[in-house]
Amino acid sequence: MLARVPLVMAWCSMSGTPRNCDILVVGGGIAGASAAAALAGAGAYVILLEMEPQPGYHTTGRSAATFVSSYGNDTIRILNAASRPFFDTPPDGFADFPLLSPRGALFASDEAHISDLRTALDDPANAGLLEPIDTQTALEYSPALRPESAVLVAYEENAADIDVNGLLQGYLRRLQAANGRVVTSARVDSLLRRAGTWQVGTNVGAFSAPVVVNAAGAWADEVAALAGTASIGLVPKRRTALTFDPGVDIARWPLTISVDEEWYFRPEGGDLLISPGDETPQPPNDAQPDEMDIAVCIDRIKRHTTMTVSRLVSKRAGLRSFVFDKSPVAGFADDVDGFFWLAAQGGYGIQTAPALAAFTATLIGSGEISSDLSDFGLTVTALSPSRLRA
Ligand SMILES: Cc1cc2nc3c(=O)[nH]c(=O)nc-3n(C[C@H](O)[C@H](O)[C@H](O)COP(=O)(O)OP(=O)(O)OC[C@H]3O[C@@H](n4cnc5c(N)ncnc54)[C@H](O)[C@@H]3O)c2cc1C
Repeated sequence: MLARVPLVMAWCSMSGTPRNCDILVVGGGIAGASAAAALAGAGAYVILLEMEPQPGYHTTGRSAATFVSSYGNDTIRILNAASRPFFDTPPDGFADFPLLSPRGALFASDEAHISDLRTALDDPANAGLLEPIDTQTALEYSPALRPESAVLVAYEENAADIDVNGLLQGYLRRLQAANGRVVTSARVDSLLRRAGTWQVGTNVGAFSAPVVVNAAGAWADEVAALAGTASIGLVPKRRTALTFDPGVDIARWPLTISVDEEWYFRPEGGDLLISPGDETPQPPNDAQPDEMDIAVCIDRIKRHTTMTVSRLVSKRAGLRSFVFDKSPVAGFADDVDGFFWLAAQGGYGIQTAPALAAFTATLIGSGEISSDLSDFGLTVTALSPSRLRA
């Protein structure tokens, strides 16, 4: 049960929608949906506000949908490990299909990047996750690779595809089953703290709650500015993902990625997703692929594989948002009351969502995190917004 949050069950009703709640979550991507479900499951009355008609419209709906345990910095890898059990064994009735499907991830380096991959292989945090494989074996796994782009190769066998829509819908169903509400097409445009309560203005009317969770993805700094809290220096960075039909059976190919993340590919549906690993800083927006990034992507795939991309089946881009240390930001702001950050999930927000949601619910509820999380080595300080001011 949530201890620190007073339960405000006496709601008023406007147009049939209860407006007062314990916790308002801003943002209906994977971060907001998962946190809202965890908070509602812990006994809070939660309303989720999403500015688009559809939850998951922005970054969540545009990801590469992979779970790679060895991906990210030390904090991310702790969150990966703490999230994996949820993916492997979700709660009963959470999803109609498994959330993960076996895929494997192959990290390839050419001559110039061998030392980067050696460093990853030597990192004790990757022990048991990453194994070196020889070039011949790498080409059996991922036949389109050029041998000179796979001089040293590491393989993560347990890497998997994520059913992102299954995960998102599962969280939204759990939120609603716990009496939570989802309000779409509701853009938060003002936040005013009065008598221990946030008065939240939107285009569909006012809401109020003692606690606001800022899960606004690329817009998180803009939402924070409405509340008058200091910026975390969030930088949204555009990443492009294209698909094409390579004309061969790719069903069993692993995610294949250069160690410097300058290109990657993986099967998506019947096609192959390719990306140039771009990270172009830009203001929050409905990101669209840039023609130059598309050209760079096609060129890199041509240089590092035997494939030729003649016609694209689809193209998309999304914003991966980072702070300077590339760890997420989850915790109460230290300069205004009742404002909880859940932002900066970067390129790992789908695979880390279960642990970040549990972290959010226990920290808001009790002021501490559960031993389930701390046993993995997670600390409040590692994710705290205050660390960014140090
Ligand atoms: C090409 C690409 C590949 C990726 N691959 C992977 C991967 O393989 N694995 C992985 O784990 N991660 C991956 N990621 C990263 C992952 O997609 C993100 O970390 C994650 O989706 C972030 O979720 P979010 O909920 O924070 O953001 P979002 O999904 O963007 O959700 C934020 C929501 O807040 C809403 N919002 C903003 N402002 C307001 C407001 N004022 N009022 C109301 N609502 C508001 C927005 O409309 C949006 O829906 C990838 C990302 C990209 C772009």
